[in-house]
Amino acid sequence: MCRRDALRGALLRPRSPRYVLYRQAPCVLATHSRITPRRRRVILKRALILGAGFGGLELATTLSEELGGDIDVTLIDRNAAFSFGYSKLDVMFGRQTLAETRLPYADIEMPGVRFLQQTVISIDAEARSATTDQGVHEADFLVIALGADYDLDATPGLADGANEFYSFEGAALLGDVIPAFTKGHAIIGVCGAPFKCPPAPSECALLLHDDLVARGVRDDCQISVVMPFPRLVPPSPETSAALLDAFVERGIAFVPDRRVSSIDHARSVAVLDDGTEMPFDLFLGVPKHRAPDVVLESGLAVDGYIPVGHATLETQIADVYAVGDVTTVGVPKAGVFAERAARVVARSIIATIRGGEQPEPYDGRGSCYIECGHGLVGRVDVDFYSGPKPTGVFNEPSDELVRDKEYFGSSRRARWFGR
Ligand SMILES: Cc1cc2nc3c(=O)[nH]c(=O)nc-3n(C[C@H](O)[C@H](O)[C@H](O)COP(=O)(O)OP(=O)(O)OC[C@H]3O[C@@H](n4cnc5c(N)ncnc54)[C@H](O)[C@@H]3O)c2cc1C
Repeated sequence: MCRRDALRGALLRPRSPRYVLYRQAPCVLATHSRITPRRRRVILKRALILGAGFGGLELATTLSEELGGDIDVTLIDRNAAFSFGYSKLDVMFGRQTLAETRLPYADIEMPGVRFLQQTVISIDAEARSATTDQGVHEADFLVIALGADYDLDATPGLADGANEFYSFEGAALLGDVIPAFTKGHAIIGVCGAPFKCPPAPSECALLLHDDLVARGVRDDCQISVVMPFPRLVPPSPETSAALLDAFVERGIAFVPDRRVSSIDHARSVAVLDDGTEMPFDLFLGVPKHRAPDVVLESGLAVDGYIPVGHATLETQIADVYAVGDVTTVGVPKAGVFAERAARVVARSIIATIRGGEQPEPYDGRGSCYIECGHGLVGRVDVDFYSGPKPTGVFNEPSDELVRDKEYFGSSRRARWFGR
């Protein structure tokens, strides 16, 4: 067996002693197999994935599945664990603790993939390299999957206390505040667009309604949703109508085409972008989003996010891609879109390495589960690219979709973390 096959074989068997050696100290494997680190670098193409969220995890998994030890993947994230975005609602309404949502990256065991907990501090796209707080990483393929950050300061008053549920810290703080809310006005207020998971504010309102009913205080409370869109889920009139019906049935008010521009805590008033003042007793906010600083400073962003080819997800620089919330690609900011985009990028990298045909173009499709209250889950199947305008088909809330959503989570957990 030639050394290359021996190396590949070792990398393909995650539990083999050589694979373990490789994971712990790549140079040791090189010495043992008499392949110098320099020669090993010639053999293996390197992919550098910045961000281990929905997009980064799916990309690393697909590359490993298809190429095993034929690629050297470095996956970097500043956090020690991944959590699904929708778990924020679970934390907020006491259905899960923060600890229960966490899937530690230390559990990742994929041939050819090395996870590093580091913070990316600069990106040199031309050189396909990134600098972290612990060193410089170079690659043949660079993929930016750093998601979207929150700009709390863009909305004066939002950062003061427990006011937002889009970060896990915020959701956990609100998890302590909501049980004490027994009368008055709750506002679910969006502070800017685009924002992640457009149905999430509606889910929050419906879950809050159920929570207040369960505690016997619903009649003493009002709920309003403020959103800078004309309808609740813009690409799907059907879904928007179904959610609006659910709002009307439950006495939840919808304020369309408005965003919250500031919060005056001294007067307990949310100020909207047209100057309207809405008094509140509980404010559940969706902060304005923005790309992470390191992306804005990289020179890759235009109008706040990274533009990529709609079909290929490639930036203007060859072999540099971006997927997910950090991009402008014409689809909503949601994990299912990031994941699907990552599969296209993986197939493109594989085709480049193997010299095969480039993959089918990215199709802009995704299915999002929606918590509709009363313990039921609905789903919207969105298609952004195939017609003249986006479409979104609504699937009525059901127990079956509750099970589908559970499977959605458990299948990713198994695929990415092996548990
Ligand atoms: C309340 C709520 C409910 C949601 N529900 C759903 C849902 O039901 N379905 C769905 O599909 N989506 C849902 N989402 C949206 C979903 O969570 C995101 O759209 C998705 O995670 C985006 O994937 P991504 O890979 O682009 O980015 P992310 O998953 O955000 O991953 C980006 C990663 O980059 C890392 N990172 C950022 N900066 C740095 C740096 N400088 N150095 C190192 N690492 C860095 C971050 O730690 C993060 O792990 C929801 C979001 C919220 C807030």
